[in-house]
Amino acid sequence: MTTLADLPIRDDLRGQSPYGAPQLHVPVALNVNENTHGLPDDVIDDIVGALAAAVRGANRYPDREFTALREALAGYLGDAVRPENIWAANGSNEVLQQLLQAFGGPGRSLLGFSPTYSMYPLLALGTGTEWVSASRAEGFVLTADRAAEQVRQARPDIVILCAPNNPTGTPLDLDVVTAVYDATDGVVIVDEAYAEFMPAGTPSAVTLLEGRERLAVSRTMSKAFAFAGVRLGYLAADPALIDALRLVRLPYHLSALTQAAACAALRHADEMLAMVGEIAAQRDRIITQLTRMGFHPYPSGSNFVLFGGVAEPRAVFDALLAQGILIRDQSIPGHLRVTAGTEAETTAFLNAMEPFAPAGE
Ligand SMILES: *Cc1c(COP(=O)(O)O)cnc(C)c1O
Repeated sequence: MTTLADLPIRDDLRGQSPYGAPQLHVPVALNVNENTHGLPDDVIDDIVGALAAAVRGANRYPDREFTALREALAGYLGDAVRPENIWAANGSNEVLQQLLQAFGGPGRSLLGFSPTYSMYPLLALGTGTEWVSASRAEGFVLTADRAAEQVRQARPDIVILCAPNNPTGTPLDLDVVTAVYDATDGVVIVDEAYAEFMPAGTPSAVTLLEGRERLAVSRTMSKAFAFAGVRLGYLAADPALIDALRLVRLPYHLSALTQAAACAALRHADEMLAMVGEIAAQRDRIITQLTRMGFHPYPSGSNFVLFGGVAEPRAVFDALLAQGILIRDQSIPGHLRVTAGTEAETTAFLNAMEPFAPAGE
């Protein structure tokens, strides 16, 4: 039998592993930070209508510049951005890949602050970009001084800041973004995949774009927006930076169906985001209850919680899975991560954790 090792694959891909969050069909899936609430029926009807119209025109290529979608996304992000500041692709992972294709590549480097999103090193690998792992302080916190100092030392071509950070949930102050921006001549990406879960009124890095032409703020409809299956990520940046992405994207990369579905969903943004407050409440409940049990959950500005104090993470992961509850083992010793689900899903998770409560606390 042929295996990958027998093929003339690129040397830098030899022996590497692909992204591999288990996709298992279980009653309670709390492992990849989706919004576990279903879409409202009237929104579904509107999306289906928009898709039907798009299918009728599917003999033609879609709008390569996805004009209507860029207008809708600019409207969603608010006053700081206009349609020419917006780019989109099939998930923010594709947006990030395009950024690396344009600004990274062989001989160039991407710096991130570990532990952080596991796709960053993989996107670097796929684009031949060197991955530079910088560090965080106690409790996974990142301060402006510490971040800027490491960027000055390593002189990367691209810095990526995950705000809030996956898998730790740690929020990021905007002064870290400005300090890092001032510490480099390279591109600074702020990945705000979970921004909608931050307390209302928390400023986005989008507010920093004016006068910072090397800054890119990426967002996604996969998490708070309950649209992971559609694959729509986007970014806001200076129009010149976006011109760089036009050089590397595939022609017509956003299908007419994707554009139609996303535009229809954005018309109902309030309804799509209606469960965000409830999800944040379940996240806070997870933190309170795990603390009571003697675990060590970290503060989270997202829809998931990383917690320590787990004697045997793999055994707990397996025990929960046997009960139909899927969480995430990020290979951080003594830690596991769980997504805040519906109230019932969260209850199932918390009940399943009780037997593993650290003894004597
Ligand atoms: C989930 C996630 C994304 C979103 O990826 P999509 O491709 O938009 O589904 C991006 N960044 C981080 C840190 C994430 O956790």
